[in-house]
Formats: sequence, structure tokens, C-alpha cells
Amino acid sequence: MKKVVKFGGSSLASAEQFEKVGKIIRADKDRRYVVPSAPGKRDSKDTKVTDMLYQCYALAEEEKDFSALLAKISERYQGIIDGLKLDLSLADEFKVIEKNFKAKAGDNYAASRGEYLNGIIMANYLGVEFIDPADTIRFDEDGNFDADTTDALLSKRLENVERAVIPGFYGSLPDGKVKTFSRGGSDITGSIVAKAVKADVYENWTDVSGFLVADPRIIKNPEGIDTITYRELRELAYMGASVLHEDAIFPVRKAGIPINIRNTNRPEDNGTWIVENTLQKSKYTITGIAGKKGFCAVSIEKDMMNSEIGFGRKVLEVFEDNSISFEHMPSGIDTMTVIVHQDEFEEKEQSVISGLYKAVQPDSIDLESDLALIAVVGRGMKATRGTAGRIFSALAHVNVNVKMIDQGSSELNIIIGVKNEDFETAINAIYDIFVVSQI
Ligand code: ASP
Repeated sequence: MKKVVKFGGSSLASAEQFEKVGKIIRADKDRRYVVPSAPGKRDSKDTKVTDMLYQCYALAEEEKDFSALLAKISERYQGIIDGLKLDLSLADEFKVIEKNFKAKAGDNYAASRGEYLNGIIMANYLGVEFIDPADTIRFDEDGNFDADTTDALLSKRLENVERAVIPGFYGSLPDGKVKTFSRGGSDITGSIVAKAVKADVYENWTDVSGFLVADPRIIKNPEGIDTITYRELRELAYMGASVLHEDAIFPVRKAGIPINIRNTNRPEDNGTWIVENTLQKSKYTITGIAGKKGFCAVSIEKDMMNSEIGFGRKVLEVFEDNSISFEHMPSGIDTMTVIVHQDEFEEKEQSVISGLYKAVQPDSIDLESDLALIAVVGRGMKATRGTAGRIFSALAHVNVNVKMIDQGSSELNIIIGVKNEDFETAINAIYDIFVVSQI
């Protein structure tokens, strides 16, 4: 078996955390390829090294003195080296970094040093080879990740390498300049490495025991999710559940490699398995609930709308012309509602309204603001009767008015629109009916 293990910033924030990681890696000889993030926060008041690097480089770019901040970053690493009692000095590395900062090597280069240095420490600590992803993880001239070139280079590079540390978050452009992924991008590196070595599992170690059925800021101690499919995850992630970088899914998904989200501070927990498909039933009818506030509904009314060919297209074109993406579009015989992000709409409100009058000559346009959308997601819903009924009776019970309903044709999710102020009550009621009381 071959496993790729990625550790997030909080798992590598201090020597103590490194020791936990070392134990996890040594506990399983299949954990052969290690992808570290930069040191994260040690406590809630701490600053991530990546953020310190961005700040430090901003000073360098303004030609201000950045030496004190760079010294602080160096201290963070020295603390880890000392705590692990390693025979390692990063002094020369910091000299190069200082020189490159002065030469304005770019903020991508600056940020990437967080993972680069942590990778050097990790490789030394584990006694394995260090592999710089700048040589193998490639972006094209436009800065887009070049999956095919990367896969060819990286799989060749790792072909005869039994064990290695490959820092997360960055690669290089065709001209050799360092380029990072978006924030949280070490998750993507882990996935790319897993694909390149044809791993059996991609373990992603973080500070939570996987995905939860609902947001812990709304539900106290929600249950964890044992297994979730990629499609379910997409639905939940889109609506705000975030543990993993969204783009981390694609490389492994294509290769049929499952992701296992694990907790460095509770390695005994099984975490969440993210899989392409499974016969395994969720513990409950639903797999998860997620949601977002801040939507508004634009309702267009016109007699005989249903017989007017091209009506929907003309309406959506107005939104397109104003660069507003729409979320949902419930409709009646003579009404059509377009649900959009409120902040996007507010800026262009009058332009959209006048555009709609021009395009479809409606009888009236009604606006409703401050709506929240809640996604109830579950592969089990398809085979279960009465799921929607249960949701609506639960909501009626707590006096929440449902503004909109949308069940995707895949029967994987039901989206419910409520007022912003009913958001938490609604999630509590849905969680209660499916997970707590299971009526
Ligand atoms: N260190 C980077 C960040 O803070 C990348 C990562 O941790 O995944 O965004």
C-alpha cells in the first residue's frame, strides 16, 4: 500500500505538533510521501507563517526595512528545530530569502517559503529525501495549473523514491518563477502527489476529525460524517462547509483515490472518507446540512409568461449582461424568481431592473432581500420517501416560513430558502428531525 499524507498548518505549528505528526507517520509504513503546509497558528492569537511572509514581503516591495519581521519568521522555525533537537541550520536559507526579497522575487515566491522551509525541517526530522515541487509541479504561462505536464514530471521523479517530503502550496511557471496555488493550496499538492504515485489513499491530516453533519457554530457537538461522496461534498462545500480546498478533489477523483480526512490531535478517530461512490449507507437519511445567508429574490410577474417563447433566456441575459450569476430559479405559471447573491445584486440593482423592463416588459418586479439558503444533502434521499415532508413539517413546527424549495434532479439535495433571521432555527430543526430524534 502507498499512502500520501498531507499535514495542515496547525498540525505543524510547533515542535510538539511535529512530534505528533512524526508518531503518525511512523505508525504506518505505508505513509511514504509527506506533504507539509507552513507552520500555522499555535493558538487563536498567533499568526500563520504564510501571513507573516506576505507582510514581510510587502515591506520589502515598498523598500522598507523587513529585517525584524524576517527574524521573527526565522525564530518560528528555530523554535521547531530546537524543540525537535535537530542538527539543522536554516541560516543560509534565510540569507538567500533575504537576498531574493530585496531583489523583489514576488509575493508568490515569498509565501512559498513557508512550506519550503517546513519541508526541509520535516525531511530532516524523518530522515527522508526532500523534493522541491518547483521542479515538477507546473503552471502554464497564464498561471493555470498544468495537470498533464505535472503528472508526467512528478510521477517520473517519484518513480524510484521510496519515501519523500514534498512541500505543499507551490510549483513553478514555465520561466522557472515560483507560483503558488490559492490559499489553503497544500491540499491540492497532496492530491497531485497522490495521483502521481498512484496512491491507495490520500490522507489529509488537519485539526478536526473530518466533516460534520452541520456547522458546529450552529449545532452544539454535531455528529461527524463517516463517508461522503465527492458529489455530496461539492454540494456541501459550495454552501459553506469547508475543511478541504475545493480544487483538491479533482486530481484524486479522476484517479479513483479516496481521501481520508484525519485529526492530528485525535489520530484514533477514523475521520471522514471522501469517495467516488459507495454502497455504504449514511447513518441518517441525510449526509449533511450547510447553508449561507445573504441572498435576495427577484420575482418577475407577467400574464401569459408561460406561452412567451424565450422569456427565461431574456431574463437571464439581463443578469448575464450585469455579470451576476444566479443560484436558483423557481418559477410559476406567470412568475419567475431569480435568486442571486445580495451583495452582487445591490451594486447593480437599478441596471438589472431597467434591463428587465426593457427585455421582457413585466407587469411587476418584486424584490425580497435578506434570504438564506439551506442545502440538505444526502445520497440516501433518493431511496427514502418523505424526506421533503419531514423537512417541512420540522420547519412548520418551529414557525419558519419557507420562501423557496428546489430539489435537484439528482435527488441528492433539497435547497430551502428562508429569511436570514430564521437560518439558525431552521438548521436546528432539520438537524433535530434527522439526527437527534430521527422521527
Ligand atoms: N500555507 C498556505 C496558506 O496558509 C497553504 C496551506 O496551508 O495550505 O494558505
